[in-house]
Amino acid sequence: MLRAAASAVAAGALVTGCDPHRDDDSGALRSGGPSPSGAGSSGAGHAPPARARTARPPVRVPGLPVQIAHGPRNGRAVALTFHGRGDPKLATALLGEAERAGARVTVLAVGDWLDEQPAMARRILDGGHELGNHTMHHRNICALPAAEAYAEITRCADRLRALTGTIGSWFRPSQTQRATDLVTGLARKAGYPHVLSYDVDSLDADDPGAPAVRRTVLDAAGPGSIVSLHLGHAGTVAALPPILDGLRRRGLRAVTTTELVT
Ligand SMILES: [Zn+2]
Repeated sequence: MLRAAASAVAAGALVTGCDPHRDDDSGALRSGGPSPSGAGSSGAGHAPPARARTARPPVRVPGLPVQIAHGPRNGRAVALTFHGRGDPKLATALLGEAERAGARVTVLAVGDWLDEQPAMARRILDGGHELGNHTMHHRNICALPAAEAYAEITRCADRLRALTGTIGSWFRPSQTQRATDLVTGLARKAGYPHVLSYDVDSLDADDPGAPAVRRTVLDAAGPGSIVSLHLGHAGTVAALPPILDGLRRRGLRAVTTTELVT
């Protein structure tokens, strides 16, 4: 899959998006050493709830386009949205940083990651974050035949339903910023009235270092922005606190995608 994705990049088929050429399974993972913000750390009075939450099901939001790239420009909120794959220690560290700052994020989980790390679904929801579908294997979904693309959506939806009780709040296509009309239609057929795109690409999956990630996000983000980021990258974990601080200085809050658009 990775080789196929890399050749697609080489062919110029992929402009932006969810970084098919740098996947979380690469050697970029640096999980050595104790996590500075591991699970269960005591931040801002956050305590694990006694009862597990059910994931919010997808809803159609009247007035919104089928494909959502941003929220209201006249508000004071942004949504930080994450490709959900990679080292669970880094994922947990990132969620901890968000929670310490009072932020909520949206994680679009890849199905094969949920198979390997089923506890992460609950960890995400228990932190008050939102969980969605980012296909089963993170293939170049817009290049697949319809039946295969549909299976990529529904197989991840099945994982989410088994783990959380619903198919997740959102669907984001893999290896692309925007879905084709075909993929949008397949997502709707699978139960997702909207497809979640984004308008700010952090480029964090290229591991440019935390200062560059922070700069890229803060240079581009404004009211209503939906920012694309990735779990599983140490630079993103380090960049999150200064990103949240920078947003706060502008009077912007990081909220779930649902809170942003409803
Ligand atoms: Zn992705």
